[in-house]
Amino acid sequence: MASFEAFTCDACKGLFARSQRSCRRCGASAILPVNLSGRGLLTSFTTIRMPPTAFQGQEPYDIAVIDLEEGLRVTARLTVQAGRTAGIGDPVMFETMCPYGAAFRLIEEQE
Ligand SMILES: [Zn+2]
Repeated sequence: MASFEAFTCDACKGLFARSQRSCRRCGASAILPVNLSGRGLLTSFTTIRMPPTAFQGQEPYDIAVIDLEEGLRVTARLTVQAGRTAGIGDPVMFETMCPYGAAFRLIEEQE
């Protein structure tokens, strides 16, 4: 299982999806990379059928808001396996980093 790389403030332990020059919560400057579990819950998702120019040809694709179990909220691509239907609250897992950002997929029943 791939872990999801994020960033944490060494002072207040705040979590961020992207690197920061200083912490948005407490102002400290020690921001460190951290590996999260990559597991989370699907908070919302939408299917993009008319993408911006850079993503044309990839449609339709799903964009999801995911709440990771460590408390970080991320926006990412969602891969829905054949025969599955995504639903709010479904468990998801980080799959891979793509040129356009992170991709998550639904967790299978047996995982
Ligand atoms: Zn902080």
